[in-house]
Amino acid sequence: MQDAGEEPRLFPNRFADAVGPAGTQPDRDRCRCVGHSAATRPASVKFHPERQDTTCEGWQHLLALIDEAATDGRQVFTPFVNLSPVECRQIVTLPATIGTLTEVKHLVLYGTNLVRIPPQIGALTGLEVFEPYTSHRLHWFPYELTRCTLLRDSTVSTRALYGNRKHRPPFPALRAVTTTTQTDFAALDPGVWGTDAVSTCSACAVPVVEELHRAWITLPAGTDVLPFLVNACSKECLDQLPPPAPGYAPAPHLGGPALHQPTP
Ligand SMILES: [Zn+2]
Ligand SMILES: [Zn+2]
Repeated sequence: MQDAGEEPRLFPNRFADAVGPAGTQPDRDRCRCVGHSAATRPASVKFHPERQDTTCEGWQHLLALIDEAATDGRQVFTPFVNLSPVECRQIVTLPATIGTLTEVKHLVLYGTNLVRIPPQIGALTGLEVFEPYTSHRLHWFPYELTRCTLLRDSTVSTRALYGNRKHRPPFPALRAVTTTTQTDFAALDPGVWGTDAVSTCSACAVPVVEELHRAWITLPAGTDVLPFLVNACSKECLDQLPPPAPGYAPAPHLGGPALHQPTP
């Protein structure tokens, strides 16, 4: 079922140049993870399990576009404009090299098929405007995005977000603490962990070696309020998280169906 409210019929003019060439192939997939209203909200939700195919043309093309942008030091980066619909659909995350774009002030990820954004986004220290608008499969962001302290403007399809205040979808359940003897942090199942690897602490950036401590926290970012996933090295790092945004779960949490959230 297509929700009319999720798919605005009129897009702001500023996105007119943000989409690639039209084609007959679909450029993205749909998902129903979070529902679109209190009535259609699921009782529980899991992370998207898709793994990135790094051999496909779309990925190779995106890597080349990032290299090009890093070399010329451009400030506005709209990579999906240059990808064909087939290539766009192949991209479910961004390469780690996105973190080389330290000159970029304005990142446009309009209408993509992304299901996650890697922690390297936090290296975009010049980022002022972040626009993943109508990327409806993005339900959360890495806590590392909060390192982009110049971020002042964002355009996010908030109805697709876990815990959004319109209809409060659930969050995927997290395991509070995991040790390296239990799990190899370099080879994770994205459908369970939301990522295929954790290497550094979302909060203090040291390598995560022995224990992985996880939590969800919802915070203001840009002009939105976003749910962030924290992969921390220690309980101390979780204890030092800032207070969550008012009107959302009042403390960092582990998600799951039992999570109490304010009513929509
Ligand atoms: Zn989804
Ligand atoms: Zn830490």
